[in-house]
Amino acid sequence: MGFTIAEKIISAHLAKGSLKRGEPINVKIDQTLTHDVNGVMAYLEFEAMGIERVQTELSVSYIDHNLIQADFRNPDDHRYLLDVAAKHGIVVSRQGNGICHQVHLERFDIPGKTLLGSDSHTPAAGGIGMLGLGAGGLDVALAMAGEPFPLKMPQIVKVNLTGHLPPLVSAKNIVLELLRRVSVKGGVNKIFEYAGPGIKTLNVAERSIITNMGTETGATSSIFPSDEITQQWMRAQGREDQWIPLEADADAVYDAVIDINLAEIEPLIALPHQPDKVVPLREVEGLPVDQVVIGSCANSSLPDIARVADMLKGKAVHKNVDAGLYIGSRQVYLESVERGIFADILRAGVRVFESGCGACNGSGFAPPTNGVSLRTTTRNFLGRCGHATGNVYLVSPEVAVAAAMAGVITDPRELGITPGEFKMPDQFLIEDNMFIYPPANGADISIRRGPNISALPELAAAPDIISGKTLIKLGEDITTDHITPAGANFLPLRNNTPEISKYTFHFVDTSFAERAKAEGGGIIVAGVNYGQGSSREQAALAPRYLGVSAIIAKSFARIHLANLVNFGILPLVFENESDYSSIEQGDQLKLEFKPLFESQATAVVNETKQLEFAVKTPLTHEELEIVKSGGRLNWIKSGG
Ligand code: SF4
Repeated sequence: MGFTIAEKIISAHLAKGSLKRGEPINVKIDQTLTHDVNGVMAYLEFEAMGIERVQTELSVSYIDHNLIQADFRNPDDHRYLLDVAAKHGIVVSRQGNGICHQVHLERFDIPGKTLLGSDSHTPAAGGIGMLGLGAGGLDVALAMAGEPFPLKMPQIVKVNLTGHLPPLVSAKNIVLELLRRVSVKGGVNKIFEYAGPGIKTLNVAERSIITNMGTETGATSSIFPSDEITQQWMRAQGREDQWIPLEADADAVYDAVIDINLAEIEPLIALPHQPDKVVPLREVEGLPVDQVVIGSCANSSLPDIARVADMLKGKAVHKNVDAGLYIGSRQVYLESVERGIFADILRAGVRVFESGCGACNGSGFAPPTNGVSLRTTTRNFLGRCGHATGNVYLVSPEVAVAAAMAGVITDPRELGITPGEFKMPDQFLIEDNMFIYPPANGADISIRRGPNISALPELAAAPDIISGKTLIKLGEDITTDHITPAGANFLPLRNNTPEISKYTFHFVDTSFAERAKAEGGGIIVAGVNYGQGSSREQAALAPRYLGVSAIIAKSFARIHLANLVNFGILPLVFENESDYSSIEQGDQLKLEFKPLFESQATAVVNETKQLEFAVKTPLTHEELEIVKSGGRLNWIKSGG
């Protein structure tokens, strides 16, 4: 029996376990990446391990997420990142060099290797045939320390692409179509592996849009083969020597198959506030638009920018629309200037920001109150644009430009534009002078920490009996943005646990933090897919800091589940989902920890309602031990 691409890479990196689906496995990590808003925590955790130099083939620290520098806090974070990188052997990609996933695709991704990133969109690397995995900062710190990464062996789903996309319908619509079909939870514990003749119509940048946003389905990763198109990309990046061919064997066996005929895809749009609320664009045509955002790691490579410029050439942005562009990397910026297309964009009246995440995570360029913002970004969770009244719709660059020109949601095919053919350059403009490489020995380097960087909190071991009030009862698909908000007001607080914890569930229930403190902690109850979205570990650490000891949900998102373990919160799922409806906010719950070790199940007593119901844990015996000891750092210190 042959292997899939993912099976080939995992087999070559397997430190523990087998390819049996659902089995706990450990995978050796070749490269890591971090970014500024999650990276400071990751490096504090790495420092706590007392290891001199990173043990990976390559670790890169990107400064791309929060570039506002409104006061001392972000510059202090950036300075800390520079110091810690120099000391411990990490490459830094400086402010202005671009968004981590785009820059890594250009300069560092290698087919057949593994990449662990403290960012959920790390599967963007799958566009080149690399296995990209998102994780919390502590897991990335452990990978930097040389530890293999633990996960459950995912199912491998073949996504069979046939046909050719129609004109002005681009790769973003392929992943929106996938989201429409499988939802924000349809990819949990799965890898989407792309195959079929349709893949030959997609360049590496387009493939990376799809693998990047596969994250929105909850997938562990997504990956394309490495073929002659990949080889040409790497040659143009001056890295052909790192290319290897990689494809599934003809007799590879998949756990499921999804067929997508590219010729049948029409322009799609994800409505607020979930990326799977996908409908045909025609259903919302004519809706007035206040703002257009082009860019983010999903749609800001050269083919995207060239298409945007092509559509805008000689035209102007509508007077009612505020249009902004975040180019994905300095390389793309330089190419755009060199080719003259940058001027076409500027002349049309688009505001061009520096290369970085910007509006995508709410660090600047928020829409007005109740505003409609059309974005080529990755996700449109409530409040992510900076405030809870913004209505963010996710679209392709072609749809974004059409709306920017027309002032209302418009099918780009109705504008009478004949798009020009894009040809990938034989040679990209390579300028690596915004990478800072570490010295061979960093022993003498002292690390400067600003006052906003708080020490890691001490976490106590879990008691034998967990009891507390139901602090909040939540619905389905609660995102990490619900738990720990993004946005310019909150991003600078991510490295200050006491401060960021005050805003836990800020856009859901502003009194949560006060209530949790007053109660001395408690328990959270939620529906399916709790913690979907980003890898931010503050979404586990902040509730833990407020005393949350357990979360009972119908199901959990993969990365967040790992973060709960790392910070000593006990995740439990209902044996019988109907018991969810028997609990109300304020109910006093109580459970014993010990039976979980014996049978992975325990009973919860609802003392307020005089009821009892059964829960189980999705954790392994080892993960339960980690939670019991108060989190992974405690467990490591105790010799685990
Ligand atoms: Fe940055 Fe947005 Fe991409 Fe995250 S999804 S890496 S915030 S551009």
